[in-house]
Amino acid sequence: MRLVAVIQYSLQCAKGHHYDAWFKSAAAFDDQQARGIVTCAVCGDGTIEKAPMAPSVARKDGETVSLSSGHPDAARFRELVRAYRQKVTSQADYVGDRFAEEARKIHFEETEARGIYGEATRDEVAGLLDDGVDFMPLPDIADDN
Ligand SMILES: [Zn+2]
Repeated sequence: MRLVAVIQYSLQCAKGHHYDAWFKSAAAFDDQQARGIVTCAVCGDGTIEKAPMAPSVARKDGETVSLSSGHPDAARFRELVRAYRQKVTSQADYVGDRFAEEARKIHFEETEARGIYGEATRDEVAGLLDDGVDFMPLPDIADDN
């Protein structure tokens, strides 16, 4: 099973800068934001808002479609999933079958929060869930059908 551990947020400061940041969990982000230690990577501004996490794709007509908005048709859905996979695989570290080990290290703050993806067995997935580790499946689709 291929998984991604990921709490990657697209963040936006009061001045409109956009940047991506990794957190070990949604709760960690909320906590750091409440303590005012989440600051803009560009200007240091402390007023940070979360942009939606769902992968989205800018269309040629200028609209942005998202996996969380309605029911895209099959072709659009594949396009979204492909874009999401590309985003994950270009920004996260591939850790192979050490996924469970690395995800746990991030969760327990033994290493810096970062995006990882890799493989895990069913048993490892169950163990991660027991430990409250945040992760999700990385959608796997064939490129051509
Ligand atoms: Zn800023």
